Amino acid sequence: MTNNKDVGWNFDNSYARLPQSFYSHQNPTSVKLPDLIILNVELAKTLGLNLDPLQNDEGVAVFAGNKIPEGASPLAQAYAGHQFGHFTMLGDGRAVLLGEQIVPTGERLDLQLKGSGRTPYSRGGDGRAALGPMLREYIISEAMHALGIPTTRSLAVVTTGESIIRESILPGAILTRVAASHIRVGTFQYAAGKGNIEELRIFVDYTINRHYPNINNDENKYLSLLKEVINRQAELIAKWQLVGFIHGVMNTDNMAISGETIDYGPCAFMDIYDPDTVFSSIDTQGRYAYGNQPYIGGWNLARFAESLLPLLHENQEKAVEMAQDEISNYMDIYQKNWLKGMRAKLGIINEEHEDQSLAEELLTIMKQYRADYTNTFRALTFEKMEDTVLGGVPEFTKWVERWKERVGRQQESSAAIQQLMQTNNPAVIPRNHRVEEALAAAVNDGDLSVMEKLLKALANPFAHSTEQAEYCSLPEPSERPYRTFCGT
Ligand code: AMP
Ligand code: MG
Repeated sequence: MTNNKDVGWNFDNSYARLPQSFYSHQNPTSVKLPDLIILNVELAKTLGLNLDPLQNDEGVAVFAGNKIPEGASPLAQAYAGHQFGHFTMLGDGRAVLLGEQIVPTGERLDLQLKGSGRTPYSRGGDGRAALGPMLREYIISEAMHALGIPTTRSLAVVTTGESIIRESILPGAILTRVAASHIRVGTFQYAAGKGNIEELRIFVDYTINRHYPNINNDENKYLSLLKEVINRQAELIAKWQLVGFIHGVMNTDNMAISGETIDYGPCAFMDIYDPDTVFSSIDTQGRYAYGNQPYIGGWNLARFAESLLPLLHENQEKAVEMAQDEISNYMDIYQKNWLKGMRAKLGIINEEHEDQSLAEELLTIMKQYRADYTNTFRALTFEKMEDTVLGGVPEFTKWVERWKERVGRQQESSAAIQQLMQTNNPAVIPRNHRVEEALAAAVNDGDLSVMEKLLKALANPFAHSTEQAEYCSLPEPSERPYRTFCGT
């Protein structure tokens, strides 16, 4: 048995104390030959875990699901969700929540094994995951964290020593995911859908205690919850837009109530600015295109509000009215967050009415001339406009004059303005061709060095160091268009 004192496991499993209908007790299915591929050393430390015992056979056995650490209470969570607009019963079909680690700061964090075998919610699936996609989640979620975007984290990836069958035979792997919780909009839809108001109330109260304890004494805490969740999602999606992140599968089961980005399936970062950008091979209608993400956020929040209706007010009509009032504020809140972030990207500190149109005009020019999103803002930061495809474009030259005039109307020194831009415009994002290159080396050749080097560049995206320069290049035409896949 893994000694808790050695490793630092410190579980308290509040989710397992919810009514039984919210989960199924489920141990992970043991695997043949676990091998630790990557461990997030910094994250392990913040969780209060000790590196040596974590990396020995006993520690790795936990990441593989072969050993249950003392105090864990593995379970698969039940949830539902709208997938591409269609309502379905889902649940953890290939994951188990090991338990909630109480970390040294006192924070409670979910530790989940993803790819850990079948559960009662697996439907036809094998409950497993492949190495490539699990490493991809590791890279992109850690990049998001470094970009300052709320997200689930990745603690470790192990291979299982077993093959899994997809379009080809692939090495199986398990990701240990760390999250504020795995409660989703879809969990609320599940709770409401059962039609048991008392259980719905127990679950919603649980969520409030866990994520929004500050609203506990509000006059209508359920209405406050709706407001809080709207605020956090508006903030989150604005942050995605500002770095060009495309989630790819914004189904309601993939929207976390904590406001963290969750479920790195077909996600990818946009290179050339185009609101219609879609990477996911199954998103044929462009429902989750870059430019649609803010609207889909609102659509999902409306589904969230619906699931709260029985608690908002005893009079159904009144409840609907209250929910609609809140939902109607979402787009404004989103827009304010976006503009605030865009001002920072443009080095604007005070507010002027024309800032919105200034930003929009730049985006229009970027779209027309197929400019790279990240590199355009980098070029503005370092005043190297000639480095981009926009150098010499008359509309852009005119826009730069207008922008310089706007920025110049401020009291702040040009050094302070540049500093602001540098900390809001990343040098590196996980560009698809570089991620693919790292995954190919790791999966096909067992060479982890390419991924480690990439992770290092992504760990401090605002450094603008010379080592990062190579990660700023665009993919070759042969590497486009890039496609991502679900159900990996
Ligand atoms: P996702 O697209 O990752 O959000 O997954 C949607 C649903 O499908 C969730 O309920 C997953 O647990 C389930 N799922 C995905 N892949 C598998 C698999 N290989 N085996 C069983 N269930 C899966
Ligand atoms: Mg999901």
